[in-house]
Amino acid sequence: MVAPQVGEVDPEVVEPAADGNERTIYMRIIAVIITLTLVLTGCGIERHSIGQQNEKPIIYASSYPLYFLAHEIGKDNIDLRIVIPAGAEAHDYEPSMKQLKEIGDADLFIYNGAGFESWADRLLETLLENKRSMVASEGVELIEFNGVADPHIWLNPINMITIGENIKENLMELDEQNREQYEQNYKELSDRLRGLDDEYSQALKDHRGKTILVSHAAFDYMAERYGFHQIPVMGINPEQEPSPKAIADIIEIAIEGDYGYIFMEPLISPKTVEVIAREAGLKILVLNPIGGLTKEEEATGEDYISIMKENLKNLEKALVN
Ligand SMILES: [Zn+2]
Repeated sequence: MVAPQVGEVDPEVVEPAADGNERTIYMRIIAVIITLTLVLTGCGIERHSIGQQNEKPIIYASSYPLYFLAHEIGKDNIDLRIVIPAGAEAHDYEPSMKQLKEIGDADLFIYNGAGFESWADRLLETLLENKRSMVASEGVELIEFNGVADPHIWLNPINMITIGENIKENLMELDEQNREQYEQNYKELSDRLRGLDDEYSQALKDHRGKTILVSHAAFDYMAERYGFHQIPVMGINPEQEPSPKAIADIIEIAIEGDYGYIFMEPLISPKTVEVIAREAGLKILVLNPIGGLTKEEEATGEDYISIMKENLKNLEKALVN
């Protein structure tokens, strides 16, 4: 196999270099400061609807993976809403003023952090001052990509269990009378996620050390968990167009490494991937980063777990180089 040499795609960047550790520590400190600020400013403030009869806590999740967790744990006991709607590419989504106001009025705002929602920091400074919020990425170990935190934490099912536990704790505090149900729902969800993790480990155990070509750099958490590598056409944010040089490099890697497949994703234009596939003689498969559902996936009842299972089938096909 040809070692991946495209400037920003060396899988070695996930190895904890000394510099990376310093950055991680620095980011942890920032995260702790944000948390403290929230705890301190949140003290003693009554939330508007809790305790009133028949009023469910209003929970806002910024993106689909967090919505999925809150939905599975909260079920009918919460009034759950999502900021980034189905069909929208999550990275560069900007909520409307109306949405921001509504998030500000919610009982709990759950967001990813690690740079995924640039608008959320602004929101915290203004609307959320006295409100409860939960930063999903604070509880998990972050991976860096080219020196910045990689926000795609949900693509490791074990991270989903950790984030789910944090959501459960928040719901139990917000709505004490349904504590047992949240606990029970979380237990069922974490069992399913553990089952998914087992399925991945089992299916991919003979593919360790292999490499896949992907559309944007979303899959390092998955790759690290199951022992493979990604070579992305685009960086962490798919809105940043790849340079002609980066495209040429990937074509060269694909030809020299005798790759058979390249992955595209549902919410990003397949144009660049199609060019590479044509030039390098690759077949195109879907690997869904699940930052958001498509409208069709939403309509047909697909969810995080069903899409992860689809992803696994395609990974098994492609993880041969
Ligand atoms: Zn992404």
